[in-house]
Amino acid sequence: MFDNLSEKLDKALHNLKGHGKITEINVAETLKEVRRALLDADVNFKIAKEFTNTVKDKALGQNVLSTLQPGQLMVKIVKDELTQLMGGDAEGVDLSGNPSVILMSGLQGSGKTTFSGKLANFLKNKKTKKPLLVACDVYRPAAIDQLHVVGEQIGVEVYSDRGNTDPVVIAQAGIAHAKTLGCNVVIIDTAGRLAVDQEMMDEISNIHKAIQPQETLFVVDSMTGQDAVNTAKAFNDVLNFDGVILTKLDGDTRGGAAISIKSVVNKPIKFIGTGEKMEAIDVFYPSRMADRILG
Ligand code: GDP
Repeated sequence: MFDNLSEKLDKALHNLKGHGKITEINVAETLKEVRRALLDADVNFKIAKEFTNTVKDKALGQNVLSTLQPGQLMVKIVKDELTQLMGGDAEGVDLSGNPSVILMSGLQGSGKTTFSGKLANFLKNKKTKKPLLVACDVYRPAAIDQLHVVGEQIGVEVYSDRGNTDPVVIAQAGIAHAKTLGCNVVIIDTAGRLAVDQEMMDEISNIHKAIQPQETLFVVDSMTGQDAVNTAKAFNDVLNFDGVILTKLDGDTRGGAAISIKSVVNKPIKFIGTGEKMEAIDVFYPSRMADRILG
């Protein structure tokens, strides 16, 4: 995960990690290289620039050059800022409702159906949660089949209504069904398109208004880099979602989406997907991710 970025940042910070004399000049050079490493990882230009400016200001503010171990302090400032950029403290999912309704949004292929299954499995394993999955993709029968396969795999009930073409009605009926089954979490998987379009936005917005979920999650493929950030912005404008799910972090992603998304939409990354299997889900901890990136 983020091997390339990790390697480049390690190289950039190498001089500081060594114990050579640290001067204003090599701090400036280091920051330039840090910025380049972020840009190479597909981090938005403005964010990369702000990042290095903040690190510089903090270094000046803490009078880094006159401290005993200036290199280590600089590395710590970079790590803290990276953590901050990706979201500060980890935030959970609101499960206070009865049932708690979680609405999935995102483009087709982003990993919504897979993640719906992973989250249901994750919650089911907590013992106090009994989830129900609801299939609201009325355009692709294969998507409904896929959710049923996932449900069977993890032993979670799936609600669908193949004859119905209104996703709002299906979502509402799904929630009613959850109540009769005694399920305390309802995860609603929705349709996605290959690109943002008005029809899809209207549809997800109508579902959102009708069911008023406790949590609206935006699922995005981290391999899509800068596009991931643009798509997040479009969905957030319409849904004002609560959190982001970054999928496919097991792939050869450069990491730009993970680093940029929080500061662009100001919503936390809540979970990450790290594989196709139902167990490949992790709660997102920004500080752990920063540790991983900076080694
Ligand atoms: P949806 O159209 O948004 O519902 O996307 P799907 O859940 O069908 O996922 C699209 C493809 O991505 C499928 O082949 C999934 O197996 C795959 N996929 C989903 N999440 C991950 C992940 O975290 N890692 C990897 N490697 N593949 C994933």
